[in-house]
Amino acid sequence: MGFKVAIDGPSGVGKSTLAKGLAARFGFLHLDTGAMYRACGLYLIGLGAAFSDNAAAVEALRGMDIRVELGADGQRVFINERDFTPVLRTPDGDHASSAAGKVRAIREELVARQRAIAAGRDVVLDGRDIGTVVLPDAEVKLFLTAGAGIRAARRAAENAAKGIASDPAETLSEIERRDYADTHRAHSPLAKAADAVEIDTSAMSADEVLAAAAAIIEEKRGG
Ligand code: C5P
Repeated sequence: MGFKVAIDGPSGVGKSTLAKGLAARFGFLHLDTGAMYRACGLYLIGLGAAFSDNAAAVEALRGMDIRVELGADGQRVFINERDFTPVLRTPDGDHASSAAGKVRAIREELVARQRAIAAGRDVVLDGRDIGTVVLPDAEVKLFLTAGAGIRAARRAAENAAKGIASDPAETLSEIERRDYADTHRAHSPLAKAADAVEIDTSAMSADEVLAAAAAIIEEKRGG
């Protein structure tokens, strides 16, 4: 069966950081589902495929073989054997993922892959629709929140640590744009599952969020 942890929430709230921490602590596999939307969107845009229309997307997806490798040194996403990993976390990747995430056929394809990867294993998945759609029976569902300004400041600090200059106003408007797109799309919009535990991370460090989430998992596993 496996023990399943679902983590959802808006962009830049720290889902991946938490998921990695929990995976390391409990020995679970971590699947970052956003990376699959990023790779899929970049692949389809690279093909020049018109995919905003569902029927066109079905056609374009026929030739797509997406493969996710979950290794000790992190996750890699291949499409038709091309490794998209290095280009996923770029402004083009942001744009491509929100375009891909709107299309029903793409969501159905990626959700099926995500469930197949999770089946029978101890896993932590992070995304926007994990607790509501991908793993509705997850043992633990977490929904992370933080104000847009706080998420933008964290993103800017992350960029600065990597030596990437970013404009604070632009970072905030990109976060707000993705919040709007993710909560207003017709198919599987970002939403908190009724049985998810909400953690407002606004005033918490990454270590504090990890400790709070780990306590919830330990309680569930022990009980
Ligand atoms: O999590 P990340 O920022 O990498 O996700 C990129 C985009 O992919 C999100 O803004 C969202 O539009 C889409 N996505 C989604 N469903 C998921 C994961 C990501 O629609 N489960």
